[in-house]
This record gives sequence, structure tokens and C-alpha cells, in this order.
Amino acid sequence: MDNIRNFCIIAHVDHGKSTLADRLLEYTNTIESRRMREQFLDTMDIERERGITIKLVPVRMKYKANDGQEYILNLIDTPGHVDFSYEVSRSLAACEGALLVVDATQGVEAQTLANAYLAVDQGLEIIPVINKIDLPSAQPDEVLRQIEEIIGLDASQALLVSAKEGIGIPEVLEAIVKRIPPPKGDVNAPLQALIFDSVYDNYRGVISYVRLVNGSVKKGQNILFMATRKVYEVEEVGFFIPFMSPSEEIRAGEVGYVIANVKTLFEARVGDTITDANKPTDRPLPGYKHVKPVVFCGLFPVDRDDFPRLREAIEKLQLNDSALTFEPETSEALGFGFRCGFLGLLHMDITVERLKREFDIDLVATAPNVAYEVVLTDGNIIEAHRPSDFPEPTKIEEIREPYIKLTIFLPSDYVGKAMKLCQDRRGEFVSLDYITPERVRLIYNLPLAEFIIDFHDRLKSITRGYASIDYEHIGYKKSDLVKVDILIHGEPVDAFSFICHRDNAYKRALSVIKKLKELIPRQLFEVAIQASIGSRVIARENVKPLRKNVLAKCYGGDVTRKRKLLEKQKEGKEKMKMIGKVQIPQEAFLAFLQAD
Ligand code: GDP
Ligand code: MG
Repeated sequence: MDNIRNFCIIAHVDHGKSTLADRLLEYTNTIESRRMREQFLDTMDIERERGITIKLVPVRMKYKANDGQEYILNLIDTPGHVDFSYEVSRSLAACEGALLVVDATQGVEAQTLANAYLAVDQGLEIIPVINKIDLPSAQPDEVLRQIEEIIGLDASQALLVSAKEGIGIPEVLEAIVKRIPPPKGDVNAPLQALIFDSVYDNYRGVISYVRLVNGSVKKGQNILFMATRKVYEVEEVGFFIPFMSPSEEIRAGEVGYVIANVKTLFEARVGDTITDANKPTDRPLPGYKHVKPVVFCGLFPVDRDDFPRLREAIEKLQLNDSALTFEPETSEALGFGFRCGFLGLLHMDITVERLKREFDIDLVATAPNVAYEVVLTDGNIIEAHRPSDFPEPTKIEEIREPYIKLTIFLPSDYVGKAMKLCQDRRGEFVSLDYITPERVRLIYNLPLAEFIIDFHDRLKSITRGYASIDYEHIGYKKSDLVKVDILIHGEPVDAFSFICHRDNAYKRALSVIKKLKELIPRQLFEVAIQASIGSRVIARENVKPLRKNVLAKCYGGDVTRKRKLLEKQKEGKEKMKMIGKVQIPQEAFLAFLQAD
């Protein structure tokens, strides 16, 4: 075991993790040069297109060090975006060390700090790597100073690297061998393997990515999944070099995969411990804390016949993404669909895109919302994921909403604008400090609901893309929230109601009913569109009665995708919805509910 090193690469988005991984794979001849391509480990289409890593990726390399010995290096590449930090923390648990990559032109960013702290918490040996030193604007000395002052790591041993140009790569490999400790563990002890990821394969069933802590596992062995108490016979074990390649056995200290004909991920859960069914260990390894989705939206097939396919597709995605949750939902406007839970907006975005692309399903995603805690007058607390979950206002004692602690790194020139944005979004100021004379760290506590609307886009535009953010959930806080109902000709329409802060209720209500006024065609009688809180009407618009038959309607939004949806929907059977006496075209609902 002395010649094994397990490490991961962590960094802020775009600081060069995947490119550094490329160079390590190349230098160690893990990949033949003709098969090499940039960001080799980003294998998903979306990852390659967007240039981001979503899933952790393990790979095993062999390296002959300067001391003349051959080492096995297990590398795990990780995502940098805050939505996927769950992937990072799982990767860290399988390693003894981490390369902390910092872009020499950008310095320490929000996710550099967040990921470095995760690694420190896990007790990993951290090797700071200053990357992109080939760029003329590189300021390695300044970045070294930031690593010491902001993160509190010793930067005297930091490595200077250009992953792109291949500068400093041998030094990285030597540092891994010399500075990261070998794994501890006992090959002869009962098997303990931590499942740090799971992938579902149509042909082979569940493939569990494991880090062996003790013992060994080989084909034919009976293994026990400790959480579910299920026993399976091992069909294949192997390593990622870089693709799955079968091997005789995996031993304590190593990273590899186990296939045992397991048909659902629930039986081989991420975080569970695999042990030997005939010689079990008496205790499972510490797992991971279960992540809870925080952002929700409804997903509905445009073509109602696609509902079973959508279910199948979401189930499949969930197999590889245990953070994704779903439950059936029926909307009077959109029919049958699912209410899905995500770790954040990017997670939601990627999931919706994968459903469209990988499963070719046209779907409508409703605007995202958060989960509220509603304390009832009888003392019970319920969790509300959508406006219709809210009880009568008279039965509500208080409403609590999720808050995040938001850290923003940005140039000092933009501080005023950023603070204004946070304030406008009901943010509570926490702190402001200067990292350099030009760069500032700003911290606010912010309602998650305000963040998920379009906070990040707004921040990017007011800072011209020079801000980076990180956030952590800090729990629920009491808030003066109200449910605003929308009534059409006196009938409340669930699909249009929303939750918001009392101070913003009027403004939002007005914009909603104005939009609806555009969307609802004239009828033979005057139609009132009202917004109300409880029984109190706060805003009202009227749709004038029809004089002549002008059916030329115009729906908001002219995005081609939306139009395609609308056209497709037109072919559908149910074109009109009756809300009380009022006929509303399905398109109106779609145009209104679709999140753009
Ligand atoms: P990740 O998000 O941390 O995995 O970053 P990537 O490896 O995807 O790299 C982000 C971008 O930085 C890509 O366009 C790379 O080509 C570029 N890049 C990475 N390393 C270097 C480097 O050493 N020098 C320069 N000039 N560009 C680099
Ligand atoms: Mg990457």
C-alpha cells in the first residue's frame, strides 16, 4: 500500500482542474496520445459543450518516480460549481490528499476557499498549485500571498504550473508521491469499501465506484451492502485506466469499481459500505450526510402522451444523481407531470437539458421556487413546495423561508452596485473586507427565493463577469410572506398563484395580472383578473368584452423554442381550458408558466 496515492483536484470553476488532469494522464501514458483530447475526463456532452465538470471522475495512473519506484496514483477530478459541491465532498472522502489549483491571473475565488475548507475538514494533505503561469497577466506572488492570508495554508511549497503548456507537471507528480501520505488500512481485515459514486448502466446494472478501506474484493465473492442488508455476488471488479478495465481484485487503499448485478441504485446507495457477506465487518464506514434538494420546479411533457416516457427518463437520471428528487404532480393547466427537487439552479438547468436531449422529450419547466416551512396555529409545521400547499391564511401562525450565506468575491469598483443588488433582494449585510486593494469579499445573508430568481445573472451583468460566488445554506428564518391568489372571473387559478414577501406583493401581483390580461382572449362578457391575499383584493385588471371576432392573439415571448412548443401544443387535443365560464387557451398557460 506504500506505493498508492489517492488524491483529487479541487478548484474554482475554470481554474484548470480538468486540463491539469489531462497533462497528468498524458505524462503517465495512461491515455495513448492519439486518443487524447482536451478535458478528457469531461465525457458528458453537456460537460464538453459548457466546458464544466458536473460529475466526479476517478482514474488510475502508474507513475515511475525519481526514487526509482513505481506508484499507483488514483486521481479524482471534481466539479467546481457550488451546486455540485456534494460531488466534491464525496471525492474528498476517498482520498488522502488534494491538489488545490488556483488560477495565477484570478487568484483565490469563492469556490477555491469553499473547496479548500472541505479538504481541510477532511484532514487531507493539500498541495497548492498555481496554474496558468504562461499567461502574461499571471501574478504568482500575489496568489501565493492570498493562499496564505485568505485560506491560511502554507504556500511556501506551492507549485508553479501551466497545465496548458505542460510546465511543471513532473514536479506535480513528485509532490503527490512525496507529500501525500499513502492510504492506511489492512488487506487482511474484513472488507470495508466506501461507495463514493454509483452509475447505472443499462446492460450491467449498478456500477459502484468504491474506495477500499480494508480487506479486498474479487469476482465471485458474496458482498453485503450494509445499509440495505442485501447480498450480491460480485460479477466484476476493476479500475479506471481511464476506462473501466476488469482486474483480479481490488485491495485496501485502492480506488476501483464493483459490478454485482444490482438492479437499482437504492440497493447500492452512495455513502453505503460494502462488506464481505461471509466475513462481515462489524461497523460501516462513516457515510455522507444526505443532501436535500432546495430548489423545486414542475416538469410537464408538452405532449401528454409523453408522460410515461418522462417518468422513465427522470427515473434513469436519478439513478446517477441521487440528489435529484421527484414526485408526481397534476396541474389543472399543464396536466400530469412531476415536481422535481434540485440542489440549485445549475443542477436544475442541466437536468432539464439532459431530459430534453438525452431522452428527446419536449417539456415545460415551471419557474423554480424554494421550500417553505409553515407553522400552523395548531403548532404543526408543514413543508410547502408550491403555493397550493399553503393553508388558509387564518390557519398560519408564521412562515419561514430558507436563507443562504452568500459570499461574493469582486473588484472593489463594483461593490456599491453589488450591495445595492443584495439590499434590493432583502439581503442582510454581514461583512465586507479587502483581499487586495482592488478585490473585495462581500458577505450577505439572503433569502434563497430571491437568489434563485436571477441573482447570479444580475450580479454578472453589473460586475461584467468579474464576480465569483459561493453560498451555503444557513437554515430557515421567519419572514413576512404572503400567498397571492389570482382569480379569473372570480375563480382562483392555482397555477397562477405565488408566494412572495408582503412588501413586494402588490408589484408582483400587478405584473402578473397585466401579463395575464395580454394572454387571455376576449370573451363575450367582461372578465376580471384579480390578485388577492386571503379575501382582500390587492390588484385588478379587466379584459374587455368581445365586439367583433378578432381572434388574432399575441402571446408574450417570441423565443423560437417557445413557439415550437406552442405549435406542438396546438396539435394537442385539448386546446381550451374552462376556468369557470372563461375559456383560456392552453397556450396562455404555457406562455405564462414556462420558465425561460
Ligand atoms: P476546470 O473548470 O477547473 O476543470 O478548468 P478547465 O481545465 O476546463 O480549464 C478552463 C479553461 O482554462 C480552459 O479554456 C483551459 O484551456 C484553460 N487553461 C487551463 N489551464 C491553463 C493554463 O495553464 N494556461 C492557460 N493559458 N490556460 C489554461
Ligand atoms: Mg473541469
